[in-house]
Amino acid sequence: MLYYKKKIIIIKHINMKKFNFYNFLNLLKLESIKIEKTINLIASENYTSLSSIIYSSSCYINKYTEGYPKNRYYSGCKIFDIFENKSIIESQILFNSFFSNVQPHSGAQANASAMFSLININDKILSLDLKSGGHLTHGFKKNFSGKNYNIINYCLNKNNLLNNKNIELIIKNEKPNLIILGYSSYQKNIDWEIIYKIAKKNNCLILTDISHISGFICSGLIKNPINYSDIVSSTTHKTLRGVKGGILLSNKRKIFNKINNSVFPGQQGGSISNNIVGKYISFKESNNFNFINYSKQILLNAKIMLKTFIYRGYKSMSIDTVNHMFLIKIENNSSFYIEKLLEKNNILLNRNFFPNDLKSSKSPSSIRIGTSSITTRKMKNKEAELISNYICDLIEKNKFSNKKIKILCNYFPIYK
Ligand code: PLP
Repeated sequence: MLYYKKKIIIIKHINMKKFNFYNFLNLLKLESIKIEKTINLIASENYTSLSSIIYSSSCYINKYTEGYPKNRYYSGCKIFDIFENKSIIESQILFNSFFSNVQPHSGAQANASAMFSLININDKILSLDLKSGGHLTHGFKKNFSGKNYNIINYCLNKNNLLNNKNIELIIKNEKPNLIILGYSSYQKNIDWEIIYKIAKKNNCLILTDISHISGFICSGLIKNPINYSDIVSSTTHKTLRGVKGGILLSNKRKIFNKINNSVFPGQQGGSISNNIVGKYISFKESNNFNFINYSKQILLNAKIMLKTFIYRGYKSMSIDTVNHMFLIKIENNSSFYIEKLLEKNNILLNRNFFPNDLKSSKSPSSIRIGTSSITTRKMKNKEAELISNYICDLIEKNKFSNKKIKILCNYFPIYK
Protein backbone atom coordinates (compact mmCIF):
# COMPACT_ATOMS: atom_id res chain seq x y z
CA MET A 1 0.00 0.00 0.00
CA LEU A 2 2.76 2.33 0.97
CA TYR A 3 4.57 1.42 -2.20
CA TYR A 4 1.43 1.99 -4.20
CA LYS A 5 0.93 5.39 -2.60
CA LYS A 6 4.54 6.25 -3.19
CA LYS A 7 4.23 5.21 -6.79
CA ILE A 8 1.23 7.45 -7.30
CA ILE A 9 3.08 10.32 -5.69
CA ILE A 10 6.05 9.67 -7.93
CA ILE A 11 3.85 9.39 -11.01
CA LYS A 12 2.00 12.56 -10.06
CA HIS A 13 5.28 14.29 -9.52
CA ILE A 14 6.62 13.18 -12.89
CA ASN A 15 3.39 14.08 -14.63
CA MET A 16 3.43 17.53 -13.07
CA LYS A 17 6.97 18.01 -14.24
CA LYS A 18 6.11 16.80 -17.72
CA PHE A 19 3.05 19.02 -17.82
CA ASN A 20 5.00 22.15 -16.94
CA PHE A 21 7.90 21.22 -19.13
CA TYR A 22 5.77 20.59 -22.21
CA ASN A 23 3.65 23.64 -21.49
CA PHE A 24 6.65 25.94 -21.55
CA LEU A 25 8.07 24.17 -24.57
CA ASN A 26 4.72 24.71 -26.28
CA LEU A 27 4.80 28.39 -25.44
CA LEU A 28 8.30 28.71 -26.88
CA LYS A 29 7.22 26.77 -29.95
CA LEU A 30 4.18 29.03 -30.38
CA GLU A 31 6.36 32.12 -30.09
CA SER A 32 8.90 30.78 -32.63
CA ILE A 33 6.11 29.95 -35.10
CA LYS A 34 4.59 33.40 -34.57
CA ILE A 35 7.96 35.07 -35.21
CA GLU A 36 8.46 33.07 -38.43
CA LYS A 37 4.95 33.96 -39.67
CA THR A 38 5.11 37.65 -38.83
CA ILE A 39 6.56 40.63 -40.68
CA ASN A 40 8.50 42.58 -38.08
CA LEU A 41 8.80 46.31 -38.80
CA ILE A 42 9.64 47.39 -35.23
CA ALA A 43 12.55 49.78 -35.77
CA SER A 44 14.24 48.82 -32.46
CA GLU A 45 14.31 45.11 -33.18
CA ASN A 46 16.25 42.71 -35.36
CA TYR A 47 17.06 38.99 -35.51
CA THR A 48 20.51 38.16 -34.20
CA SER A 49 22.35 35.23 -35.77
CA LEU A 50 22.04 31.63 -34.55
CA SER A 51 25.72 31.67 -33.53
CA SER A 52 25.17 34.76 -31.37
CA ILE A 53 22.14 33.07 -29.78
CA ILE A 54 24.08 29.87 -29.08
CA TYR A 55 27.11 31.68 -27.62
CA SER A 56 24.97 34.00 -25.52
CA SER A 57 23.09 31.04 -24.06
CA SER A 58 26.32 29.29 -23.07
CA CYS A 59 27.69 28.09 -19.71
CA TYR A 60 28.52 31.72 -18.89
CA ILE A 61 24.86 32.18 -17.94
CA ASN A 62 25.97 30.88 -14.52
CA LYS A 63 29.18 32.87 -14.10
CA TYR A 64 29.68 35.99 -12.03
CA THR A 65 32.43 38.15 -13.53
CA GLU A 66 32.25 41.34 -11.47
CA GLY A 67 35.09 43.75 -12.32
CA TYR A 68 37.23 43.91 -15.44
CA PRO A 69 39.74 41.53 -17.11
CA LYS A 70 42.59 40.67 -14.69
CA ASN A 71 40.84 42.61 -11.94
CA ARG A 72 37.84 40.51 -10.90
CA TYR A 73 36.01 40.22 -7.60
CA TYR A 74 35.25 36.49 -8.07
CA SER A 75 37.58 33.65 -8.95
CA GLY A 76 37.33 31.48 -12.05
CA CYS A 77 37.26 34.28 -14.64
CA LYS A 78 40.51 33.52 -16.50
CA ILE A 79 38.87 32.14 -19.65
CA PHE A 80 36.15 34.77 -19.53
CA ASP A 81 38.83 37.49 -19.50
CA ILE A 82 39.80 36.32 -22.98
CA PHE A 83 36.21 36.69 -24.21
CA GLU A 84 35.74 40.14 -22.68
CA ASN A 85 39.06 41.38 -24.09
CA LYS A 86 38.17 40.01 -27.53
CA SER A 87 34.75 41.63 -27.36
CA ILE A 88 36.36 44.98 -26.43
CA ILE A 89 38.90 44.78 -29.26
CA GLU A 90 36.30 43.72 -31.83
CA SER A 91 34.06 46.68 -30.91
CA GLN A 92 37.01 49.07 -31.04
CA ILE A 93 37.79 47.91 -34.58
CA LEU A 94 34.12 48.16 -35.52
CA PHE A 95 33.74 51.77 -34.37
CA ASN A 96 37.31 52.97 -34.81
CA SER A 97 37.56 53.84 -31.12
CA PHE A 98 40.45 53.67 -28.61
CA PHE A 99 38.18 52.70 -25.75
CA SER A 100 35.18 50.46 -25.34
CA ASN A 101 33.19 49.10 -22.41
CA VAL A 102 31.02 46.14 -23.42
CA GLN A 103 29.41 45.54 -20.02
CA PRO A 104 26.25 47.72 -19.95
CA HIS A 105 23.22 45.47 -19.68
CA SER A 106 21.19 47.71 -21.98
CA GLY A 107 21.12 50.99 -23.88
CA ALA A 108 19.47 52.66 -20.90
CA GLN A 109 22.24 51.52 -18.54
CA ALA A 110 24.89 52.63 -21.04
CA ASN A 111 23.34 56.11 -21.10
CA ALA A 112 23.05 56.26 -17.31
CA SER A 113 26.73 55.30 -16.97
CA ALA A 114 27.77 57.83 -19.61
CA MET A 115 25.94 60.66 -17.80
CA PHE A 116 27.38 59.48 -14.48
CA SER A 117 30.91 59.70 -15.97
CA LEU A 118 30.54 63.13 -17.53
CA ILE A 119 28.42 65.30 -15.21
CA ASN A 120 27.12 65.68 -11.64
CA ILE A 121 23.60 65.20 -10.33
CA ASN A 122 21.44 68.31 -10.98
CA ASP A 123 23.73 69.48 -13.82
CA LYS A 124 22.04 70.82 -16.95
CA ILE A 125 21.46 68.56 -19.97
CA LEU A 126 20.30 69.75 -23.39
CA SER A 127 18.59 66.95 -25.32
CA LEU A 128 16.16 66.32 -28.16
CA ASP A 129 12.52 66.63 -27.09
CA LEU A 130 10.71 63.27 -26.81
CA LYS A 131 8.07 64.39 -29.32
CA SER A 132 10.79 65.39 -31.79
CA GLY A 133 12.31 61.89 -31.69
CA GLY A 134 14.36 61.93 -28.46
CA HIS A 135 14.56 58.89 -26.16
CA LEU A 136 13.20 58.41 -22.62
CA THR A 137 16.76 58.16 -21.25
CA HIS A 138 17.56 61.61 -22.67
CA GLY A 139 15.52 63.38 -20.01
CA PHE A 140 11.94 62.11 -19.71
CA LYS A 141 10.61 63.27 -16.33
CA LYS A 142 9.80 59.74 -15.08
CA ASN A 143 13.19 58.36 -16.19
CA PHE A 144 16.44 58.46 -14.11
CA SER A 145 17.66 61.18 -16.50
CA GLY A 146 14.70 63.48 -15.90
CA LYS A 147 14.76 62.85 -12.15
CA ASN A 148 18.49 63.38 -11.59
CA TYR A 149 19.36 66.15 -14.02
CA ASN A 150 18.07 69.56 -15.01
CA ILE A 151 16.72 68.95 -18.53
CA ILE A 152 16.19 71.48 -21.29
CA ASN A 153 15.22 70.47 -24.83
CA TYR A 154 15.90 71.36 -28.42
CA CYS A 155 13.17 70.55 -30.95
CA LEU A 156 12.79 70.09 -34.68
CA ASN A 157 11.89 73.16 -36.74
CA LYS A 158 8.76 73.64 -38.90
CA ASN A 159 10.30 71.46 -41.63
CA ASN A 160 10.96 68.64 -39.13
CA LEU A 161 14.70 69.29 -39.22
CA LEU A 162 17.29 69.89 -36.53
CA ASN A 163 18.42 73.49 -36.62
CA ASN A 164 22.09 73.88 -35.66
CA LYS A 165 21.72 77.68 -35.25
CA ASN A 166 18.90 77.15 -32.78
CA ILE A 167 20.99 74.58 -30.87
CA GLU A 168 23.87 77.10 -30.77
CA LEU A 169 21.59 79.79 -29.41
CA ILE A 170 20.28 77.52 -26.64
CA ILE A 171 23.82 76.41 -25.72
CA LYS A 172 24.98 80.06 -25.53
CA ASN A 173 22.00 81.18 -23.45
CA GLU A 174 21.49 78.18 -21.20
CA LYS A 175 25.08 76.96 -20.82
CA PRO A 176 24.24 73.24 -20.40
CA ASN A 177 26.94 70.94 -19.01
CA LEU A 178 26.07 68.23 -21.52
CA ILE A 179 24.31 67.96 -24.86
CA ILE A 180 22.87 64.60 -25.92
CA LEU A 181 22.75 63.87 -29.64
CA GLY A 182 20.96 60.88 -31.12
CA TYR A 183 17.37 59.85 -31.51
CA SER A 184 14.69 57.16 -31.64
CA SER A 185 13.01 58.56 -34.72
CA TYR A 186 14.62 60.98 -37.17
CA GLN A 187 15.15 60.58 -40.89
CA LYS A 188 18.08 62.93 -41.56
CA ASN A 189 21.78 63.05 -40.76
CA ILE A 190 23.11 65.13 -37.88
CA ASP A 191 26.21 67.23 -38.53
CA TRP A 192 28.25 65.90 -35.59
CA GLU A 193 31.23 68.13 -36.41
CA ILE A 194 29.33 71.45 -36.38
CA ILE A 195 27.60 70.68 -33.08
CA TYR A 196 30.93 69.49 -31.60
CA LYS A 197 32.54 72.83 -32.50
CA ILE A 198 29.61 74.79 -31.02
CA ALA A 199 29.64 72.69 -27.84
CA LYS A 200 33.40 72.89 -27.30
CA LYS A 201 33.37 76.69 -27.76
CA ASN A 202 30.86 76.78 -24.91
CA ASN A 203 32.46 74.21 -22.57
CA CYS A 204 29.67 71.74 -23.12
CA LEU A 205 30.31 67.97 -23.16
CA ILE A 206 28.74 65.69 -25.79
CA LEU A 207 27.12 62.28 -25.41
CA THR A 208 26.10 60.79 -28.77
CA ASP A 209 23.59 57.97 -28.58
CA ILE A 210 23.83 55.92 -31.78
CA SER A 211 21.56 53.10 -30.57
CA HIS A 212 19.47 53.06 -33.74
CA ILE A 213 22.12 53.78 -36.33
CA SER A 214 25.19 51.91 -35.01
CA GLY A 215 24.97 49.32 -37.82
CA PHE A 216 25.03 52.13 -40.40
CA ILE A 217 27.97 53.79 -38.66
CA CYS A 218 30.13 50.67 -38.60
CA SER A 219 29.18 50.05 -42.26
CA GLY A 220 30.33 53.56 -43.19
CA LEU A 221 26.87 54.62 -44.44
CA ILE A 222 26.54 57.27 -41.72
CA LYS A 223 29.49 59.36 -40.51
CA ASN A 224 31.10 58.08 -37.32
CA PRO A 225 30.65 60.58 -34.44
CA ILE A 226 33.45 59.04 -32.32
CA ASN A 227 35.84 62.01 -32.88
CA TYR A 228 33.07 64.54 -32.29
CA SER A 229 31.79 63.20 -28.97
CA ASP A 230 33.09 62.75 -25.45
CA ILE A 231 31.24 59.46 -25.19
CA VAL A 232 29.30 57.44 -27.75
CA SER A 233 26.65 55.06 -26.41
CA SER A 234 24.74 52.38 -28.25
CA THR A 235 22.52 49.38 -27.96
CA THR A 236 23.90 46.27 -29.64
CA HIS A 237 20.64 44.77 -30.91
CA LYS A 238 19.08 47.16 -33.43
CA THR A 239 20.79 47.80 -36.80
CA LEU A 240 23.95 46.24 -35.31
CA ARG A 241 22.07 42.90 -35.20
CA GLY A 242 23.74 41.65 -32.02
CA VAL A 243 22.37 40.17 -28.81
CA LYS A 244 20.50 42.55 -26.49
CA GLY A 245 22.74 44.92 -24.57
CA GLY A 246 24.63 48.21 -24.45
CA ILE A 247 28.11 49.51 -25.19
CA LEU A 248 30.12 52.66 -24.46
CA LEU A 249 32.88 54.04 -26.69
CA SER A 250 35.26 56.97 -26.48
CA ASN A 251 38.42 58.47 -27.93
CA LYS A 252 38.98 60.82 -24.97
CA ARG A 253 41.72 59.22 -22.89
CA LYS A 254 40.98 61.36 -19.82
CA ILE A 255 37.57 59.76 -19.34
CA PHE A 256 38.29 56.05 -20.00
CA ASN A 257 38.65 55.30 -16.29
CA LYS A 258 35.63 57.38 -15.39
CA ILE A 259 33.51 55.37 -17.83
CA ASN A 260 34.73 52.03 -16.46
CA ASN A 261 34.09 53.15 -12.87
CA SER A 262 30.64 54.43 -13.64
CA VAL A 263 29.59 51.15 -15.29
CA PHE A 264 31.08 49.01 -12.50
CA PRO A 265 30.68 49.64 -9.59
CA GLY A 266 28.72 52.83 -10.43
CA GLN A 267 25.68 51.45 -12.24
CA GLN A 268 25.81 47.69 -12.08
CA GLY A 269 27.30 44.70 -10.28
CA GLY A 270 28.19 41.63 -12.30
CA SER A 271 27.94 41.95 -16.05
CA ILE A 272 25.73 39.55 -18.02
CA SER A 273 28.74 37.38 -18.87
CA ASN A 274 26.96 35.20 -21.43
CA ASN A 275 25.84 38.32 -23.32
CA ILE A 276 29.39 39.63 -23.51
CA VAL A 277 30.35 36.40 -25.28
CA GLY A 278 27.29 36.84 -27.57
CA LYS A 279 28.29 40.46 -28.21
CA TYR A 280 31.76 39.30 -29.25
CA ILE A 281 30.26 36.96 -31.87
CA SER A 282 27.92 39.61 -33.25
CA PHE A 283 30.66 42.30 -33.36
CA LYS A 284 32.77 39.83 -35.32
CA GLU A 285 29.88 39.23 -37.73
CA SER A 286 29.39 42.98 -38.21
CA ASN A 287 33.12 43.40 -38.92
CA ASN A 288 32.59 41.75 -42.26
CA PHE A 289 32.14 43.01 -45.80
CA ASN A 290 28.76 41.24 -46.09
CA PHE A 291 27.50 43.42 -43.26
CA ILE A 292 28.08 46.54 -45.38
CA ASN A 293 25.93 45.08 -48.18
CA TYR A 294 23.33 44.08 -45.60
CA SER A 295 23.20 47.66 -44.23
CA LYS A 296 22.92 49.05 -47.77
CA GLN A 297 19.89 46.81 -48.37
CA ILE A 298 18.28 47.90 -45.07
CA LEU A 299 18.59 51.49 -46.29
CA LEU A 300 17.27 50.68 -49.77
CA ASN A 301 14.30 48.79 -48.32
CA ALA A 302 13.46 51.76 -46.07
CA LYS A 303 13.69 54.21 -48.99
CA ILE A 304 11.47 52.00 -51.19
CA MET A 305 8.88 51.47 -48.46
CA LEU A 306 8.71 55.20 -47.69
CA LYS A 307 8.45 56.07 -51.40
CA THR A 308 5.54 53.63 -51.77
CA PHE A 309 3.68 55.17 -48.81
CA ILE A 310 4.23 58.67 -50.21
CA TYR A 311 3.01 57.52 -53.65
CA ARG A 312 -0.14 56.22 -51.93
CA GLY A 313 -0.74 59.68 -50.44
CA TYR A 314 0.71 59.31 -46.92
CA LYS A 315 2.82 61.93 -45.14
CA SER A 316 6.13 61.41 -43.37
CA MET A 317 8.59 63.71 -41.56
CA SER A 318 10.42 64.08 -44.88
CA ILE A 319 10.16 62.49 -48.30
CA ASP A 320 13.30 60.41 -47.73
CA THR A 321 15.22 58.66 -44.96
CA VAL A 322 18.97 58.20 -44.41
CA ASN A 323 18.54 55.21 -42.11
CA HIS A 324 16.38 52.14 -41.45
CA MET A 325 13.30 53.96 -40.18
CA PHE A 326 10.60 56.47 -41.01
CA LEU A 327 7.32 57.76 -39.60
CA ILE A 328 3.96 57.58 -41.37
CA LYS A 329 1.31 60.06 -40.25
CA ILE A 330 -2.05 58.48 -39.42
CA GLU A 331 -4.62 61.18 -40.17
CA ASN A 332 -8.12 59.75 -40.14
CA ASN A 333 -7.68 57.01 -37.62
CA SER A 334 -6.05 56.20 -34.30
CA SER A 335 -2.47 54.93 -34.46
CA PHE A 336 -3.29 52.58 -31.56
CA TYR A 337 -6.09 51.00 -33.61
CA ILE A 338 -3.81 50.70 -36.68
CA GLU A 339 -1.05 49.07 -34.61
CA LYS A 340 -3.52 46.47 -33.27
CA LEU A 341 -5.16 45.93 -36.68
CA LEU A 342 -1.77 45.24 -38.25
CA GLU A 343 -0.79 42.92 -35.39
CA LYS A 344 -3.95 40.87 -36.02
CA ASN A 345 -2.77 40.57 -39.60
CA ASN A 346 0.75 39.41 -38.71
CA ILE A 347 2.53 42.75 -39.12
CA LEU A 348 4.33 44.27 -36.13
CA LEU A 349 5.27 47.92 -35.75
CA ASN A 350 4.79 50.62 -33.12
CA ARG A 351 2.83 53.83 -32.75
CA ASN A 352 5.00 56.90 -32.33
CA PHE A 353 4.93 60.65 -31.75
CA PHE A 354 5.07 62.78 -34.90
CA PRO A 355 7.03 66.07 -34.54
CA ASN A 356 4.94 68.66 -32.66
CA ASP A 357 2.36 66.00 -31.84
CA LEU A 358 -0.70 67.18 -29.94
CA LYS A 359 -1.96 63.66 -29.24
CA SER A 360 -1.12 61.49 -26.22
CA SER A 361 1.45 58.68 -26.09
CA LYS A 362 -1.43 56.15 -26.02
CA SER A 363 -2.42 57.03 -29.54
CA PRO A 364 0.07 59.49 -31.03
CA SER A 365 -0.14 60.76 -34.62
CA SER A 366 2.08 58.30 -36.46
CA ILE A 367 3.38 54.78 -36.83
CA ARG A 368 7.13 54.05 -36.99
CA ILE A 369 8.46 51.57 -39.51
CA GLY A 370 11.92 49.97 -39.53
CA THR A 371 13.45 47.64 -42.12
CA SER A 372 16.28 45.82 -40.25
CA SER A 373 14.34 42.62 -39.51
CA ILE A 374 12.83 42.13 -42.98
CA THR A 375 16.30 42.69 -44.48
CA THR A 376 17.81 40.09 -42.13
CA ARG A 377 15.37 37.57 -43.61
CA LYS A 378 16.69 38.62 -47.04
CA MET A 379 13.66 40.55 -48.25
CA LYS A 380 14.62 43.08 -50.91
CA ASN A 381 13.14 45.87 -53.08
CA LYS A 382 10.11 43.94 -54.38
CA GLU A 383 9.09 42.67 -50.94
CA ALA A 384 9.59 46.12 -49.40
CA GLU A 385 7.16 47.62 -51.93
CA LEU A 386 4.68 44.75 -51.45
CA ILE A 387 4.65 45.15 -47.66
CA SER A 388 4.03 48.92 -47.88
CA ASN A 389 1.14 48.31 -50.26
CA TYR A 390 -0.29 45.61 -47.95
CA ILE A 391 -0.21 48.07 -45.04
CA CYS A 392 -1.86 50.84 -47.09
CA ASP A 393 -4.60 48.40 -48.23
CA LEU A 394 -5.20 47.32 -44.69
CA ILE A 395 -5.41 50.89 -43.34
CA GLU A 396 -7.66 52.05 -46.18
CA LYS A 397 -9.95 49.07 -46.76
CA ASN A 398 -9.74 47.54 -43.32
CA LYS A 399 -9.72 44.11 -44.86
CA PHE A 400 -6.89 42.03 -46.02
CA SER A 401 -5.96 38.39 -46.16
CA ASN A 402 -3.00 37.69 -43.95
CA LYS A 403 -2.40 34.60 -46.11
CA LYS A 404 -0.28 36.88 -48.32
CA ILE A 405 1.91 37.70 -45.34
CA LYS A 406 2.22 34.03 -44.40
CA ILE A 407 3.25 33.10 -47.96
CA LEU A 408 5.84 35.90 -47.96
CA CYS A 409 7.18 34.74 -44.61
CA ASN A 410 7.40 31.14 -45.83
CA TYR A 411 9.58 32.27 -48.73
CA PHE A 412 11.89 34.14 -46.37
CA PRO A 413 12.45 32.05 -43.25
CA ILE A 414 14.49 33.61 -40.45
CA TYR A 415 16.35 30.69 -38.98
CA LYS A 416 15.91 27.85 -41.43
N1 PLP B 1 18.73 55.09 -26.72
C1 PLP B 1 17.96 55.08 -27.82
C2 PLP B 1 18.16 56.16 -28.86
C3 PLP B 1 17.01 54.08 -28.00
O1 PLP B 1 16.21 54.10 -29.09
C4 PLP B 1 16.87 53.09 -27.00
C5 PLP B 1 15.87 51.99 -27.12
O2 PLP B 1 15.08 51.85 -27.96
C6 PLP B 1 17.68 53.16 -25.86
C7 PLP B 1 18.60 54.17 -25.75
C8 PLP B 1 17.49 52.20 -24.70
O3 PLP B 1 17.91 50.94 -25.00
P1 PLP B 1 17.44 49.69 -24.07
O4 PLP B 1 16.04 49.41 -24.45
O5 PLP B 1 18.41 48.60 -24.44
O6 PLP B 1 17.58 50.11 -22.65
